[in-house]
Amino acid sequence: MVRFTVLASGSKGNSTVVSGGRTRILIDAGLSCRETFRRMKLAGEDPETLDAIIVTHEHQDHVNGLAVTARKLGIPAYMTEPTHRAWMRWLTPRRQMTYAQWLEQCRQQAAERQAEADGEAMEGEPDEPEPEGRELPEITAAAEPEDGPAKPPSRKEDPTWLPAVEYFTAGSTFRIGDIDLSAFTIPHDAADPVGFVLRAEGVRLGFATDLGYMPPNVKAQLKGVDLLLLESNHDLEMLRDGPYPWSVKQRVLSRVGHLSNDAAAEFLCTGYDGQAAYVILAHLSESNNLPELARVAADRALSGRASLLANKLLVASQHVPLESITF
Ligand SMILES: [Zn+2]
Ligand SMILES: [Zn+2]
Repeated sequence: MVRFTVLASGSKGNSTVVSGGRTRILIDAGLSCRETFRRMKLAGEDPETLDAIIVTHEHQDHVNGLAVTARKLGIPAYMTEPTHRAWMRWLTPRRQMTYAQWLEQCRQQAAERQAEADGEAMEGEPDEPEPEGRELPEITAAAEPEDGPAKPPSRKEDPTWLPAVEYFTAGSTFRIGDIDLSAFTIPHDAADPVGFVLRAEGVRLGFATDLGYMPPNVKAQLKGVDLLLLESNHDLEMLRDGPYPWSVKQRVLSRVGHLSNDAAAEFLCTGYDGQAAYVILAHLSESNNLPELARVAADRALSGRASLLANKLLVASQHVPLESITF
């Protein structure tokens, strides 16, 4: 059985569970580990059975719980190398500091390491806090603090540590257990963003959010899918009149921003082959969209095509898991 459950979708966190055969994977880990587990259990999925986490791109709403979830389960994270590098840079921004500040930081780190070493013998592994873009400036050992050379960072000090990282490249096909994945490039303002087509047990699932427009390569990839998860991010008028500063509006509207309701509808009307049993509208903006507006635009586009009545239209939510879809 193939099972597809959107745990969350939107600018505050994205995560979807896909299982096929004996394999279960998480696409993006944008929720905290705790919330991911809570929603998986709500949806009848056992977090302990996850085999891997697949990352579309390094934006926070897709990776916020990545490290903690991967560590807790001891499972690999799959992403492209540029995405991995960008994610590591995000967690370890470089910062200029004076020698006095650097020295003070070394003292504090040494004290923390000592406290940790003292505490570790006593207790087991504590629940790790979520990384929140905390600043861990890179320090070169140009000078040594008074109490000797700095030790290399431990796993817990290194926010970028993952049990395993597997690279794939955009445009390639790879396999995780019983699930085949094709990764394709999407136009979005991240290092190397991708969408996916997943195949298991003869079922094809298309996954495309966070894209400024629908280029030919994405349209081609989404042909013949049994389930289509498609971004329907904003209503153009709501975005135009909404609260975002102009620079952010420009970004969302750009060719590397997000797909509007109209653009999603345009694809469903003219670029889509109508093969999917389910169409899920995803990554709706809470500030610049309403589920009903997205649904009406897509519904109109689909119902204009009499042959596509089998397409069941669903709208993914930020706050609750979408009902699981099985094949
Ligand atoms: Zn993004
Ligand atoms: Zn996003």
